[in-house]
Amino acid sequence: MSEVGSRVEGASSTCPGTLKEPMSVRVRYAPSPTGSPHVGNIRTALFCHLFARRHQGVMMLRIEDTDRSRYVPGCEEEIEESIAWIHIDWQEGPDKGGPHAPYRQSERAEKGIYAQWADQLLAAGHAYKAFDTSAELEEMREFQQINKQPIGYFGGKWRDASPDEVEAAESAGMRPVIRLKMPRGKMLVVQDAIRGRVEFRSDDVDDPVLIKADGMPTYHFAAMVDDHLMETTHIIRGEEWISSAPKHVWLFEAFGWEPPIFVHVPVIKGKDGSKLSKRHGDTRCLDFRSAGYLPEALANFIALIGWSPGGDREIMTIREMEESFSLEGLQPSPGVFDSDKLKWMNGHYVRQIDPSKLLSVVREFWSHPETQSYWKDRTPVEGEADPTQVRTGLDALCHAPEEYALACLKLEQERVTTLADFGPACLFFLVDEPEMDTKAVDKWFGQAHVPALLEAFIKLCQAAGDSASPETCEAWVREYAASAGLEKLGPVVHPLRVALTGKTAGPGLFELMSVLGPGRMLRRLRRAQGLLITA
Ligand code: GLU
Repeated sequence: MSEVGSRVEGASSTCPGTLKEPMSVRVRYAPSPTGSPHVGNIRTALFCHLFARRHQGVMMLRIEDTDRSRYVPGCEEEIEESIAWIHIDWQEGPDKGGPHAPYRQSERAEKGIYAQWADQLLAAGHAYKAFDTSAELEEMREFQQINKQPIGYFGGKWRDASPDEVEAAESAGMRPVIRLKMPRGKMLVVQDAIRGRVEFRSDDVDDPVLIKADGMPTYHFAAMVDDHLMETTHIIRGEEWISSAPKHVWLFEAFGWEPPIFVHVPVIKGKDGSKLSKRHGDTRCLDFRSAGYLPEALANFIALIGWSPGGDREIMTIREMEESFSLEGLQPSPGVFDSDKLKWMNGHYVRQIDPSKLLSVVREFWSHPETQSYWKDRTPVEGEADPTQVRTGLDALCHAPEEYALACLKLEQERVTTLADFGPACLFFLVDEPEMDTKAVDKWFGQAHVPALLEAFIKLCQAAGDSASPETCEAWVREYAASAGLEKLGPVVHPLRVALTGKTAGPGLFELMSVLGPGRMLRRLRRAQGLLITA
């Protein structure tokens, strides 16, 4: 269908976001349950939430499920779970009820809500019955394609059919669709809070179906009737709907209703400039949860794609965003999904977790069935946590004694970016024989001073009893370096770290030695002795 029309943007500059204040704001998030909600959908929902909160208004959740052929069972539940996960709060919806219930369009259709309005448009001559068969529609389309005409239903033979023709078709048992009679020769104006005034030539807009042959309303019709009945003040939705907006404003005009303010939020692109898709990595909202992102971080991150709070503020809690959200801060240009920035932000929020809650947060994350299936059989991706290490590490963390597991987590809290990263990061603490970095072994375990060093630390551990504080471990290292005549700590610290952790990087050596404790250190030092490279 010719959805694009020809639009003349910014034809006159009305103040963006013309808010007729004071206004009791009512916004709706109106997803179709046709697939898992992805970050773009969730951002729209978040903007609805922020805007409603900012103006002490109401956010509705409306399920647009009239297209039964695209209906995906379980999707509505996933939509609710996703938006609730990032702390979006709606006051009216299928699960909550409200003054305009039901909020599921299939139920509204059953109640006959849309049919009466379609009848009204028919009676007023703003809509008409069209009896085209699918073969005829296909033929029309082919003709338009061949002749390079705009594709769509611009009237066919039914727009101006006589009442007799319509009656004849009906008595022949043909089932019509009801189409909106778009005006001709008119300029249709969409007031968009981000773009200002956007004009469309009505001649470029085809006549959309309002009611299908089976009696079900289409999206265009059900959504606009509901926006009127539910007293929506602002339609906040993705930019992909702007080409449908002239149909929507015309519906309002045909009914004599005052249209809401449109807010078409720009698309989200990948870093390469193309539309965000699976190619760029995860896009499904709940996959971010499974990957180990925190809802606070995801909400903060996606809100800033296309919205600027002013200044250079980046880290904002949902409450802070509610306080400073404004339509004027929405950007008309596409937002970019920068996964490195999301990681950075998530790391920030991971570090904010109260240490007393850290263990339960990580265990809850790992015990979620979706997290488990996300990481099961996952192919390793360069630059991402290794799935096998995530699974082994997190399994071990969940089975380790609480005090030990928490001590390990605390040491890594500063260093990880996602909850999943705790698996690989803590793994060396949790397995008896950590995997050894062969390069590090080659570099250090052939050096002449290392055998004596290992021996000395074995003795220290044997004499230490059950525990050794970080200060004690530091004293061991310093004293050993001094007694061995080493000017710098490096020749002690590096081989010791490799012997104890298998790696060259990690948390502070004295802290990790203390967490491991003399018993574990002893076993690891002995194992390292077996790996010494002798000439
Ligand atoms: N049901 C439409 C969707 O799935 C919503 C469009 C609108 O908000 O008007 O995206």
